[in-house]
Amino acid sequence: MAHKVKEISNKPYGKNSKQFHQYWGKLDGNGEHIHPYVRHSVEKDVLSFCGWDNLENLFQRLDWRNSVMRDVGIIAFKMAGRINEILPLDNTKTVFDVQPKYIAVINFYILKRYDKILNREKKPIYHITCGRCGTENDMYEVACTKCNANLIHGGKKHFKTKPRIDTRQPFFIPRDEPFDKEFVRIITERKGLLFPSDDERRMGKPFSYGWAYHHITKIKLAENEMAWWNHRLRGERLMQLRERGFDSGELKNFSAILSDKTLEHYTKGIMTYANNKLNIGITPNELAEYGRKANLLKEATSKRFTQ
Ligand SMILES: [Zn+2]
Repeated sequence: MAHKVKEISNKPYGKNSKQFHQYWGKLDGNGEHIHPYVRHSVEKDVLSFCGWDNLENLFQRLDWRNSVMRDVGIIAFKMAGRINEILPLDNTKTVFDVQPKYIAVINFYILKRYDKILNREKKPIYHITCGRCGTENDMYEVACTKCNANLIHGGKKHFKTKPRIDTRQPFFIPRDEPFDKEFVRIITERKGLLFPSDDERRMGKPFSYGWAYHHITKIKLAENEMAWWNHRLRGERLMQLRERGFDSGELKNFSAILSDKTLEHYTKGIMTYANNKLNIGITPNELAEYGRKANLLKEATSKRFTQ
């Protein structure tokens, strides 16, 4: 294996430099990771819907202990939800109207958006991270309180934010698709939280995001198997709806996609031209297989260029 991954990588990611990739795992004899850290993204890895068989396979493997993780997976897929929107679902707040042909979902919370917190003068509150030493300085400082570096040119503003309470427009889940029975069971079998944690320290709270992340990402067992991560369930659902014929406006309504770049990824899908324009009848599973092969080949051949 030629993957060069440090045992703990301290490369900052995202806008908030306080977040770090931290990755621990088993090492081989050369001190390299047996399962190297891979940063997954829907744009890179979800080229077409993986197919109902692959989903069934995922749900089966999540089905252990009290099946909570399997249920979380089914709900996340069906609703094209982010896992942090699915875990706190509460059917006394979000209404599921079960009809013979569809299930209407009303008052589904979106947890992606953040608002800046304002001070009394209605100005956003922030701190300035020193570019030289990383110290967090008060927003009124012009020089770093620790190393005296110039913060106006060498500092980075980090705004204080709070989650914005926002909901999707009512949307409709068709009932003529697999996992319908399971879906109805999960949303109706209890009143209140759908996924209450069984951990004493989280009484009255749902299972945590980290818990779900752990169970979903450990599903990938072999090199040539599909990798799963939390956001992939939402991505697969959007691809499947796209292949069902949803246009970009309809996808937006269903899932409340926020960025045009993300929307574009789902609407330029290769499934459409392969089947509608060329009429060659490729199945989602076959197409997913082409996508996996492309990724594996890219990885294998790029290694040859870099060695
Ligand atoms: Zn400093």
